[in-house]
Amino acid sequence: MPITIVSQGRNVSPWVKALKEKRPELDVRIYPHDLPREEVTFALAWNHPLGVFKEFPNLKSISSLGAGVDHILKDPDIPEQVQITRIKDENLTNDMADFTMALVLNHMRGLHAYKAAEKTQTWKPHKYKRNEDVTVGVMGIGTLGTEVAHRLSSIGFKVTGWASSAKRLESIKVYAGPEELDAFLGTADILICLLPLTPETANILNKDNLLKLPKQAYVINVARGEHLVEEDLIQVIDAGHLAGASLDVLREEPLPEGHPFWTHPKISVTPHIASVTDPESAVVQLLENYDRAQSGEPLLNLVSRTKGY
Ligand code: NDP
Repeated sequence: MPITIVSQGRNVSPWVKALKEKRPELDVRIYPHDLPREEVTFALAWNHPLGVFKEFPNLKSISSLGAGVDHILKDPDIPEQVQITRIKDENLTNDMADFTMALVLNHMRGLHAYKAAEKTQTWKPHKYKRNEDVTVGVMGIGTLGTEVAHRLSSIGFKVTGWASSAKRLESIKVYAGPEELDAFLGTADILICLLPLTPETANILNKDNLLKLPKQAYVINVARGEHLVEEDLIQVIDAGHLAGASLDVLREEPLPEGHPFWTHPKISVTPHIASVTDPESAVVQLLENYDRAQSGEPLLNLVSRTKGY
């Protein structure tokens, strides 16, 4: 059974190399290819051309090459019987925890302001808060959010979380569902968005919700650009309600030249690098699913097409 990789705008050679290193005999094809349409049953995808999967009548599963599956589920033409899986990987989780900790600590100690002060050769110390005096709210307490929350808690922060369903985590109060969103937002001196992008979560970082954060709160978005209403963020920061934001994901990537985020003194931008899937470690679970697909066993890391994550 061949594996077909369908991707736009991403170099898939490291994935082919990693698959071949583990299984030299594998037939790995990059779409478009000349394999008969009927022979495509197991696909790996990242930002595929919309509609392409309905060309394959025997397609059984599509594996996302990352944790998110919004890029797959936004395609209305994926046949109902096709199963969709995502990556869950220790490196991906650890990298996200490291990156969000770096952003939180950078904000806590005002390092952006000192970088700006270098330009005017200004020597001016600022007061800072201690971790235990600050609450970090993690929006989305799933695979990544849970690790981020535990790490922040382990260095003294008070941590709250928000998820769809109620859950118990040691030292972390988790709010659940739309009815507890306002209460959750009210706790978050620093908000980290780690939600999947779904119809329910799109534009959730809007003016109404940003104004529910405590005054001088700081926003970190490492989930998807479409969670954030960009003009609302600028308005709420410029009105003095928020201290600033760090954005790793943007509605349009790369962020266009001249976009106001590039020059806003209280907004930092990184090019979607919070946590990048490492093909070498991720192919292990892809191959496990490949074997399972062939023997008819249930696939690992399945996503719910109804929930959208
Ligand atoms: P998971 O699916 O494991 O977790 C999602 C969490 O969000 C769960 O806690 C879920 O609640 C919660 N959630 C989903 N919908 C809602 C809702 N409507 N209201 C409240 N809570 C909700 O995802 P991951 O942790 O693995 O990844 C999160 C996202 O991070 C990915 O979808 C991707 O977009 C982004 N990402 C970004 C990267 C980057 O480099 N910037 C790298 C990797 C991922 P419940 O637990 O109750 O189901």
